[in-house]
Amino acid sequence: MDETRIWQSVLGEVEVSVSRASYITWFKNTVLLSHSDEGTVIGVPNVFCKQQLEQKFNDLIEGILHKKGIDPRNLSYKIYAGKSTPSSSSRQKAYSPASSQARLEDNAVTNHSGNNLSSTNELSHNYRKGLNQKYTFETFVSGSGNELAYAACQAVADHVGTKYNPLFVYGGVGVGKTHLIQAVGNQILASKPNSRVVYVSSEQFVQELTEAIRFKKVGSFAQHYRNVDALIIDDVQFIAGKEKTQEEFFHTFNVLHQANKQIIISSDQPPQAIDNLEERLRSRFLMGMSVDMQNPDFETRCAIIQSKAESQGLDIENKAIEFLAESFQINVRELEGALNQLLAFCELRGVPATADVAKAVFAKIKARPKHTTPKQIVEKVAKYYDINYQDITGPRRDRDFVLPRQVAMYLLRDQLKMSFPRIATELGRKDHTTAIHSVSKISENVLIDVVLRQQVQELRDQINA
Ligand code: ADP
Ligand code: MG
Repeated sequence: MDETRIWQSVLGEVEVSVSRASYITWFKNTVLLSHSDEGTVIGVPNVFCKQQLEQKFNDLIEGILHKKGIDPRNLSYKIYAGKSTPSSSSRQKAYSPASSQARLEDNAVTNHSGNNLSSTNELSHNYRKGLNQKYTFETFVSGSGNELAYAACQAVADHVGTKYNPLFVYGGVGVGKTHLIQAVGNQILASKPNSRVVYVSSEQFVQELTEAIRFKKVGSFAQHYRNVDALIIDDVQFIAGKEKTQEEFFHTFNVLHQANKQIIISSDQPPQAIDNLEERLRSRFLMGMSVDMQNPDFETRCAIIQSKAESQGLDIENKAIEFLAESFQINVRELEGALNQLLAFCELRGVPATADVAKAVFAKIKARPKHTTPKQIVEKVAKYYDINYQDITGPRRDRDFVLPRQVAMYLLRDQLKMSFPRIATELGRKDHTTAIHSVSKISENVLIDVVLRQQVQELRDQINA
């Protein structure tokens, strides 16, 4: 048997011995590099896989090798940068940071035709709304904290409507709920492009319903949501206490459930703990499967950073990865924010992302005097973009004002950790969903737009100067 065949058969056994999530994270991209009397060398994609296999799975691998008649002595693991495996090549393409336009275009290509959705397969109906195509299973790193949720979501994507219905995913802020439930939607569409998949945040659901009532279009609103193959509703806790929405959602739920259509729900708490939720909805939420998501452990956090940096085609030293994983433990969103901040700093200064640079960047932030006020930040942003304070906080929605306003909101969140309602007020907005939208838009755009990233970094530097 050649190396590939041997390793395939070993992996076959590993796959039935560990959870699917562990298999995908730690084994899927491994290869047998060499095998002789001297020893057996297994190639792994990164240092975190290496550590994980050495520490947690070595016995298992030895056992299986032994069973296959291969002497498991001198088993070692080596980081392997050879030809990419199917899974890593189907990941978002790495692009050079040289041109922001190239990045944007590259991203657009991934958005429109990536993930098995060829452009000829573009959906003709309007059911594919709300899903962000970067949230896939491929880009999600599973490990302790999210393993069960990951496995449940995959099971649902493979058995739409028939496995766990509803699937209820709950956990704190920034642990990956939105990513994972959207991955289900994207996966369903990748395997059946004509499926009607709707992703909606419960806040948006409330807003749409309110408008439908106002314009006497409740019938078509109901029709829209009752006519899907999969309904993904994010942050369902926000419908608590809203009578009309709960009633509408209750009926939608029943229609879909009876027709074996998939319902996926996320929330910051388990169904039992959501206050002001109607009992009949609570009991429906408990009919299927509920899974908890927690902040992942150190190794998984390292693997997440590694994978995020890789998907942007950027290098980061292992020691810097470990420093970030150690220093930013609250949730993955915070961790990702720190990584982006570091990478932006390095890109702007043209220095490599090493542990020392990371320490310097974050030491400066930690030591920052706390007396920067929200108004000072807004003023700095206005000045930077060469507009007036009255315009950035005023009602006009011209392009020249909208971007600075969004950046200001992003920086208020990023630098002062302000709440969305306070951010909205600071910029003269009545509705806090504008702030939520702006912050998430800038957070996403800094990942793909190198110019914006530099602007944000320069502003951060000015604020912290
Ligand atoms: P939540 O909805 O729970 O608040 P999100 O799904 O928005 O959290 O996750 C926050 C950020 O962290 C997103 O950018 C997401 O891609 C990223 N993220 C969270 N968990 C993981 C993970 N296990 N692997 C990769 N990225 C993750
Ligand atoms: Mg979310």
